[in-house]
Amino acid sequence: MELLPIFLDVRDKPCLVVGGGRTARRKVSSLRRAGAVVRVVSPRLIEELSVLAAAGDIEHVARPFHERDLDGALLAVAATDDPEANRRIARVARDRGIPVNVVDQPGECSFIMPSVVDRSPVVVAVSTSTASPVLARLLRSRLESLIPAGYGRLGELCGRYRETVKSRFAEQRDRRRFWDRVLQGRVAERIFSGHLEEASAIMERELAAEPDTLMGEVYLVGAGPGDPDLLTFRALRLMQQADVVVYDRLVAKPILDMARRDAKLIYVGKERNNHAMRQEEINRLLADLAKAGHRVVRLKGGDPFIFGRGGEEIDTLAAQRIPFQVVPGITAASGCASYAGIPLTHRDFAQSVTFVTGHLKDGTIDLNWEQLAQPSQTVVFYMGLVGLPVIVDKLRTFGVSADMPIALVQQGTTHKQRVYTGTLSTILEVVEKDRPKPPTLIIVGEVVRLREKLDWFRAPEHPEQGATTPILPDS
Ligand code: SAH
Repeated sequence: MELLPIFLDVRDKPCLVVGGGRTARRKVSSLRRAGAVVRVVSPRLIEELSVLAAAGDIEHVARPFHERDLDGALLAVAATDDPEANRRIARVARDRGIPVNVVDQPGECSFIMPSVVDRSPVVVAVSTSTASPVLARLLRSRLESLIPAGYGRLGELCGRYRETVKSRFAEQRDRRRFWDRVLQGRVAERIFSGHLEEASAIMERELAAEPDTLMGEVYLVGAGPGDPDLLTFRALRLMQQADVVVYDRLVAKPILDMARRDAKLIYVGKERNNHAMRQEEINRLLADLAKAGHRVVRLKGGDPFIFGRGGEEIDTLAAQRIPFQVVPGITAASGCASYAGIPLTHRDFAQSVTFVTGHLKDGTIDLNWEQLAQPSQTVVFYMGLVGLPVIVDKLRTFGVSADMPIALVQQGTTHKQRVYTGTLSTILEVVEKDRPKPPTLIIVGEVVRLREKLDWFRAPEHPEQGATTPILPDS
């Protein structure tokens, strides 16, 4: 590396920008964000700079550069549109020992201004040492998505407690352990979800208490329909922090593999028609784990609040005042529809979409069939495979045409995805012949026809090599 990265404090310091165009404006913005007193030397200014000058936010010297403009400047930027003039300015500045940046002329620069991810007081700077500003910007946008906005607030909190923590823990090792826990634990999570006061309160408690006596937390996390790429950043982050991951049948193995290596995995697979008892056990398990101080991810297929009984699970937690968070996931309807090329709504075919459960109970499905039989809508049935004959029969009885298209999406978004299409009059034969396996989602509506044109997803033939390699249990 030929450069020494440093962060320079330019607050209230005079900085010079020569030039009045677009590049000059960019540098002026960076300098002003950092609190510099900016002087711009240029015969003319573009509109945005004139506005700043008129408002007194920058000083404007309306003539070409003169050496005396450098008097007292902490640093200088040469940003005129004349490379020769820029070179001359750079030479003068260097002769006087003033660091200078020359726009688009890396060879002339004594310093460069990196791309910045600003989560003040946390600042991440990216530079490609002038090799490629575009690459720097690309990396910056990756970092933007990796570093949640809350890191700024987290940084502030750390700053406030730094001295206290120092005096509480004499050993550096203990201090590091403490900060590790704070930065990856509940304090950070409280901050990221906007509960600043609670975060401070937990911080105070952690400082006062012996760590082992602390209450844990439960994260109710949607794992999406199967493809690990469809996880949210938040889901991934929490999975990599959790001490315990509680999951069930619908969660794909590659997603589980993303949990922290030493996390304990607990399978609570639900048997069909045997929900009632087990659900209570799960609720109790989550509460007990949190009370024992664990950070628990309760991982659910799709979205936890869509046919996932997520509400019941956190109900128990809320009743016992156990802290929890809910992280949405891509629900099967969204995932399967996208990967099957079936837009759920469409200006010409469906003005609304309804998600219903097709779960068969006592040989029937209790739904408002009259409403579901109305035209110009899409109806999505979750858990409807076993009850498909009832669904077809009810829709026909309530007046839906025998030609109404219907699609069955098996193991959607995974490498095992299969899509079966037909109409209300033909689909039962298709099922008879091809025997789709659960989990399967059923989509009824004119929009299913669009798949003929919009089908795009090809499950990789060698899933272990593809990026999209989820494997759902067969049952
Ligand atoms: N909370 C989940 C739904 C749980 S109900 C969500 O938001 O997606 C379980 C039903 O969801 C299954 O019976 C099936 O109809 C549907 N489902 C879930 N994942 C699926 C997938 N990958 N492919 C097809 N259907 C799926």
